[in-house]
Amino acid sequence: MSKKLYLWYRNYDPSGLLMIEVYTDDYFMKKAFEEAQLAYDEGEVPVGAIVVCDNRIIAKAHNQVERLNDTTAHAEILSITAASNYLGSKYLEECTIFVTLEPCVMCAGALKWARVARVVYAASDDKGGFMRYGKEVLHPDTKLEFGVMHDECAQILKDFFKERRRSL
Ligand SMILES: [Zn+2]
Repeated sequence: MSKKLYLWYRNYDPSGLLMIEVYTDDYFMKKAFEEAQLAYDEGEVPVGAIVVCDNRIIAKAHNQVERLNDTTAHAEILSITAASNYLGSKYLEECTIFVTLEPCVMCAGALKWARVARVVYAASDDKGGFMRYGKEVLHPDTKLEFGVMHDECAQILKDFFKERRRSL
């Protein structure tokens, strides 16, 4: 076990008795959730995304629509751009994206064009999500999973909009 991994284990479980698999979907979704928390702190709709390649996080981003004054600055779009820059490739065929909210149609389209290998999202979005149009919006080779850390990722959005209504 690498030193870094070992330290991660120790932080997670100081007793060192608990045997856990490090690179689970939960682990990566937690990282995406941390991005959503950053968005929350910045007054942005709290959605976070990370891109993983060979179990390494190569890009992370959160929604920056307000900051950039750009309706397309969704977490997925920003993380796709960052991952492509990192890999020097427009296609992300070896990559998994973890996103805290079901992507919108625009982002699902971008994920299709990027040929992302796997999409994992947490909370569903019945109104704005792409799934109302079906999985076909994604590339046919893209694998899809959802529901990982659903409750936390849905709750932070609820909290955000509740707070925003209160301040109006
Ligand atoms: Zn989007």
